[in-house]
Amino acid sequence: MTPSHPKPDDLSPAIEIKGLKKTYKASKKAPAKTALKGVDLVIPRGSIFGLLGPNGAGKSTMINILAGLVNKSGGSAAICGHDIDTDTRAARASIGIVPQEIAMDVFFTPYQALELQAGYYGVPKSERRSEDILAALGLADKRDAYVRQLSGGMKRRLLIAKALVHNPPVLILDEPTAGVDIELRRQLWEYVQELHRNGTTIILTTHYLEEAEALCDQIAIIHQGEIVANESKVDMLARLDKRILKITPTESLSAVPEALSDLNATMDGEQLCISYRSGTDSISGLLNRVKAAGLSISDLRTEEPDLEDVFMALTYASDAAE
Ligand code: ADP
Ligand code: MG
Repeated sequence: MTPSHPKPDDLSPAIEIKGLKKTYKASKKAPAKTALKGVDLVIPRGSIFGLLGPNGAGKSTMINILAGLVNKSGGSAAICGHDIDTDTRAARASIGIVPQEIAMDVFFTPYQALELQAGYYGVPKSERRSEDILAALGLADKRDAYVRQLSGGMKRRLLIAKALVHNPPVLILDEPTAGVDIELRRQLWEYVQELHRNGTTIILTTHYLEEAEALCDQIAIIHQGEIVANESKVDMLARLDKRILKITPTESLSAVPEALSDLNATMDGEQLCISYRSGTDSISGLLNRVKAAGLSISDLRTEEPDLEDVFMALTYASDAAE
């Protein structure tokens, strides 16, 4: 059973963030750190939105401000139209947050943990759905186990369960699958998609491009506390479709052959590396060019740029545009 959220009449966005800033104060161990540099972001209702960025980009800081766990240094944020400063209760009631870190009170059973959480949100006893939520997350048979006896995967599912007790229209998952095995990842993705089909707006942070690609319909990239791209998945992937064809020729080669000088090619040791776009260039066409240039191929593979390359490219592009 999953709760359902019919499309609301009031079309305030799920999240609306303006000029959001956060600077962590200096401590004995570390100097002051600006984690968010004035972020503007609107997340529409009904989306599965991916906030993608490398470690340290500011993802958890943003999520924790929305959750009321971190105080912002400037700017504003509203959840389903409720300002987190002036309409705090309604804002809190509108989101469930699945934190990145597994920190739980290990002395309760899963059932008790959900009931406590429901109490914290003021959900009346008659409206509690603890049993249903446990069942939906495959924890029905662990209802009365001690949390310390649960596996890491079960604890993660319990964190999701806890975020759902007050039936929030917006669910935020912070790095839900970091360090999770493939089977559990698949289960989590399926469950998140089911919640989405029933009308819950889903926001997830990740540093895995594949995760954002598999789940999200819109993706924003955050890098060093700034949003550097925000668009539909389709547009984003078109932008990121750069691939590299790496060819080891049979006979050693010291420079890119003259006949291939119009391609975006470089030498990396013995390997000839040709950049191409998977959407527009065909590998067989490139291979024909290589053969026509008189090379025979001993080995070849293709590589995708890693996310770090993509962030670099995007941040350089935005620097250049300024
Ligand atoms: P992400 O979730 O994208 O990995 P975070 O929001 O956790 O990034 O961190 C953003 C930056 O803020 C990092 O440089 C991190 O070291 C710093 N940071 C995060 N939390 C704290 C804190 N409590 N005190 C000081 N610095 C912090
Ligand atoms: Mg984080």
